[in-house]
Amino acid sequence: MTAATKQRTYEVRTFGCQMNVHDSERLTGLLEDAGYVAAENPDQADIVVFNTCAVRENADNKLYGNLGQLAGRKTENPDFQIAVGGCLAQKDREVIVKKAPWVDVVFGTHNIGSLPALLERARHNEEAQVEIAESLQHFPSNLPTKRDSTYAAWVSISVGCNNTCTFCIVPSLRGKERDRRPGEILAEIEALVADGVVEITLLGQNVNTYGVEFGDKGAFAKLLRACGQISGLERVRFTSPHPAAFTDDVIEAMAETPNVMPTLHMPLQSGSDRILKEMRRSYRSEKYLGILERVRKAIPDAAITTDLIVGFPGETEDDFLETMRVVEESRFAACYTFQYSKRPGTPAAELPDQLPKEVVQERYERLLELVNRIAWEENQAQVGRTVELLVANEGRKDSNTNRMSGRGRDNRLVHFELPAGAERPRPGDLVTVTITGAAPYHLLADATPVEVFEVRRTAAGDAWDRAEAASCGIPADGASGSSGASVNLGLPALRKPEH
Ligand code: SF4
Repeated sequence: MTAATKQRTYEVRTFGCQMNVHDSERLTGLLEDAGYVAAENPDQADIVVFNTCAVRENADNKLYGNLGQLAGRKTENPDFQIAVGGCLAQKDREVIVKKAPWVDVVFGTHNIGSLPALLERARHNEEAQVEIAESLQHFPSNLPTKRDSTYAAWVSISVGCNNTCTFCIVPSLRGKERDRRPGEILAEIEALVADGVVEITLLGQNVNTYGVEFGDKGAFAKLLRACGQISGLERVRFTSPHPAAFTDDVIEAMAETPNVMPTLHMPLQSGSDRILKEMRRSYRSEKYLGILERVRKAIPDAAITTDLIVGFPGETEDDFLETMRVVEESRFAACYTFQYSKRPGTPAAELPDQLPKEVVQERYERLLELVNRIAWEENQAQVGRTVELLVANEGRKDSNTNRMSGRGRDNRLVHFELPAGAERPRPGDLVTVTITGAAPYHLLADATPVEVFEVRRTAAGDAWDRAEAASCGIPADGASGSSGASVNLGLPALRKPEH
């Protein structure tokens, strides 16, 4: 038995998509609820939890490499524990403890809530515990969460996916779509707002099929409108919708709900209709472009972003040129571009016509050049505009350049200079600035006239002050500027989406 007085420390290592980032927030919440504390020095944590992702090729090699590095620590300290969760755990199950017998706990994507009990049981029984459920028993958002940010939060509205895209491992690992009830979602958002959160991102594998489980096709649009009724909630975003299920009632709700931000992240994946069919994605490029046209008509300032896969098996030069054509027409503000890589367990991994690496690389570079050019042109068109930013935690680069950072309503990243003598905003406050420069991935606002620059203090800024005071003894009413914290630009750890 371990000493009851010593608090055990943990480190959670996260791999993969936003779903995993949010799951890791739940894991840390659960661990803290069970009395564990975050390790100040991760090399000395008593417990390391891997929240894995099976989406990337070589994900398992990476995991076993990481586990191998920890084997020695386990020999030196038998109290040290290792837990492996997430998609790779769901896929490999007992194989993990066979390959790495020094692992203490393996838990599936539906077993997050069991982690503290499994750690305890493994310690008590001195035996590895493997718990993998095939389907969800309780919606995971009911679990305690430790958020990365004081002013922004993810809110899960659904998990799982009813689609069967041939490159994607999610349906087999996360299961069928399960929807959370609207009342429960709204209650969570209200509680977050009461806590000082001003921005939420509704999260689901396929947000616009939300409601399929309880038979309401208009449920997602209704949810957006209901978010508009929550006082103090400044910004609402969502990720990701599927083009096949995108309906006009969602566009209307976006346009008519002032706190729903003028952004849309909608994965295109390929511009070639033939490849979309091979991917088993049921929309075609015309439908996709039609949605963008209607979104831009209703929300002229909308910044639209996407995901693209280059080099899907059997992709010809003509197919690739179709992707280039649709990208050119779509005028994306940003694209997350991926080189296709075989994901074991997916139908596409079995397709015969896998492309040589050099072909994929060459196409990828051409596509990157195009998406960067368009993103830069779209950013240049912002110069001269006056925009409102949600101020982010100060970053290292900012302290070098004496700038602060924030995100616009359209989610563009902006580095801004404080006009001489102006009030210094806190992370989570809103500021008004004028854009003076553009790069492909960010904007600059370096000379906002003092009469234009405006700080709107928010409950999120107050929550930041309170958090600062709690962590380092600074009085809560002192609007401290610099925290020395890592950059957290408007979203809780924004990652590249996986789908
Ligand atoms: S890519 Fe997205 S929509 Fe397709 S199966 Fe995966 S999670 Fe579902």
